[in-house]
Amino acid sequence: QSKANGRNTVHFFNQQLKQKASLELQLEEDLRTALQQNDGLELFYQPIIELKSGKPSKLEALIRWNHPQHGLLTPERFIPVAEANGLIDMLDDWVLRQAHADLRQLDQAGYQGLPLAVNCSALNLCGNGLPQRIARIFGSDQRIRQRIELEVTESALLGDIEHAIEQLERIRATGVRVAIDDFGTGYSSLAYLKRLPLDTLKIDRCFIQDLAFCPQGREIVRAIIAMAHALQMDVVAEGVEDAEQLRILRADGCDQVQGFFFGTPMPLQRLLAQCPHHDRAMEAWRWPTAAPS
Ligand code: C2E
Ligand code: MG
Ligand code: MG
Ligand code: MG
Repeated sequence: QSKANGRNTVHFFNQQLKQKASLELQLEEDLRTALQQNDGLELFYQPIIELKSGKPSKLEALIRWNHPQHGLLTPERFIPVAEANGLIDMLDDWVLRQAHADLRQLDQAGYQGLPLAVNCSALNLCGNGLPQRIARIFGSDQRIRQRIELEVTESALLGDIEHAIEQLERIRATGVRVAIDDFGTGYSSLAYLKRLPLDTLKIDRCFIQDLAFCPQGREIVRAIIAMAHALQMDVVAEGVEDAEQLRILRADGCDQVQGFFFGTPMPLQRLLAQCPHHDRAMEAWRWPTAAPS
């Protein structure tokens, strides 16, 4: 009796594993098709606001996949699938090309010169061809290249540090800027940070969450800001969700902020439509909540 039960349980788990495996396999298939046919993938955008002016200094592109069966999927669901199956090069190239096209959209909508931040997989940074691909996708126009900032996570920079430095230098030589994303979550040592050629440091949202309740947390954020400034980097705080966090970040000298308090990621067209008088270029971008307190 109990033996039979045990066997049934094993059978049940095997079935579950098989189902999960086939679901992942299907997702991989579907993603390949979506990339090949350029169908279903979309870049959402979230504003990054400069505190000094209260205006967006750039928009971050965040990929979404409108899956025919599962609906709108966020990157956590399919970036790992792409990374595990050799699709991430194709995906990151798709993102760069789409961002390039969206720059033109921004110009037509009256936002001439507004830069875009795009995320790039750690796997792509570690590989070899990225600087050449960037140069190819954005063409030779320096004004275009200078409007792109590539965000790479801290963990991407930790493996082979010499290789990472070389890659970042080649990327910056194309004119594209580089940001370190999710800073504080990847255990990078300060000795490394000093050597990395970076334009921007993005403080991970886990440090912003308890900013208003935890004095030690605030001290850490202050220290990160001071360190980044000493290394000539711009500082962006991620995940700003309320006015108190904003007030503290402003008081502590943070340069830029990003988070649900200012806007959730949304399709470019919707973002542009939400902004009144968008024919009046960047002056019209003002969030009432971002006004000096
Ligand atoms: P990330 O680059 O650190 O992006 C910030 C994430 O935080 C986004 O999640 C965004 O929607 C979310 N977020 C923004 N403001 C707030 C806030 O106030 N509160 C909270 N709780 N969350 C906030 P999303 O869009 O799901 O992206 C997750 C991660 O996926 C990104 O983290 C990035 O590492 C990766 N990713 C996104 N787009 C791409 C892409 O095009 N290519 C690659 N390779 N990775 C991407
Ligand atoms: Mg990012
Ligand atoms: Mg981040
Ligand atoms: Mg992240």
